[in-house]
Amino acid sequence: MRIIELMAKGQFVSLEFFPPKEQEKWPEFFEEVERLKSLRPLFVSVTYGAGGSTRDRTLDLVAALKGAHGLVPMAHLTCVGAEEQALGEYLDALAAAGVRNILALRGDPPKGETNFIPSDARFRYASDLVAFIKARHPGMCVGVAGYPEKHPEAPTMAADLAALKTKVDAGADFIVTQLFFDNALYFEYVQQVRALGIAIPILPGVLPVLSMASVQRMAAMCGASIAPEYLAALEAADAMDQAAKERGESATAVPDVGIAHARDQVLGLLQGGAPGVHLYTLNKAAACLRIVKDAHVCPLTGSC
Ligand SMILES: Cc1cc2nc3c(=O)[nH]c(=O)nc-3n(C[C@H](O)[C@H](O)[C@H](O)COP(=O)(O)OP(=O)(O)OC[C@H]3O[C@@H](n4cnc5c(N)ncnc54)[C@H](O)[C@@H]3O)c2cc1C
Repeated sequence: MRIIELMAKGQFVSLEFFPPKEQEKWPEFFEEVERLKSLRPLFVSVTYGAGGSTRDRTLDLVAALKGAHGLVPMAHLTCVGAEEQALGEYLDALAAAGVRNILALRGDPPKGETNFIPSDARFRYASDLVAFIKARHPGMCVGVAGYPEKHPEAPTMAADLAALKTKVDAGADFIVTQLFFDNALYFEYVQQVRALGIAIPILPGVLPVLSMASVQRMAAMCGASIAPEYLAALEAADAMDQAAKERGESATAVPDVGIAHARDQVLGLLQGGAPGVHLYTLNKAAACLRIVKDAHVCPLTGSC
């Protein structure tokens, strides 16, 4: 089923997973997925590892999420290491597995490098990938990334919005945003995008902060800002967690603060008219279940 048609039915929750590295972790992974089915996600997406390192795993996982688990999957795909013939065959394999949705991305430069160097000049930007997918599989529903705080490499917001327009003109069906911690950034972004005449859905991505180390790493990587008050609350919670660990007790203060913040974001986004919310699950069911249930958004999304 194509996500764009499903989106038209009303507000929803969608979930993003990453493929576990080791095959022996898959049963555990699918247990988390099964627990999250109670949220009735509109679709579930599976990331594509740096350098295409998870290509086959991404394919196997999306096929299993659709087949054995009855979910609507979306496979992420990047331009990293893209080469026309292999890419075409990969798309054919996704289509043969019944996958109808792809998130088309450029991908990040490999670790330690600052510039993205395309392995094939035909796949320099995500827009090239969108055009390629649409030409080979016109029925495929294609999402692209959007950046409420600007992509870190873009010189200006205007330049980044122009790049977004190129992806939309190439045939993108919807946009999923980079994570952000302040809903005002999302609503402002929607206005900026709409001012360019782009009418496709803009799905906000929400990350629950579960550890200080991971939020610092992710914010540095994607350029997401953290408001001083939120940062102060996380730092105070982190200090409590450190003290708890020293006493040999469990440390829950940071996840508690992070989950409460994500819950408020989810509620505010849906009440503010976002088409749905895309949760970066980090493959952790418990946190996502708490966020959605505590937000009491069931009447809006059916995620009971
Ligand atoms: C929801 C989401 C999911 C993601 N999932 C993954 C994943 O699974 N695997 C992964 O490796 N990465 C993933 N990423 C990260 C993504 O690959 C990086 O953010 C990457 O740096 C940019 O990808 P893009 O698709 O936005 O690229 P693009 O849209 O190609 O943009 C990249 C840069 O080039 C500029 N640009 C674009 N087109 C042009 C043009 N025609 N002329 C000049 N400049 C241009 C843009 O402004 C931007 O600065 C994800 C990001 C998001 C938001």
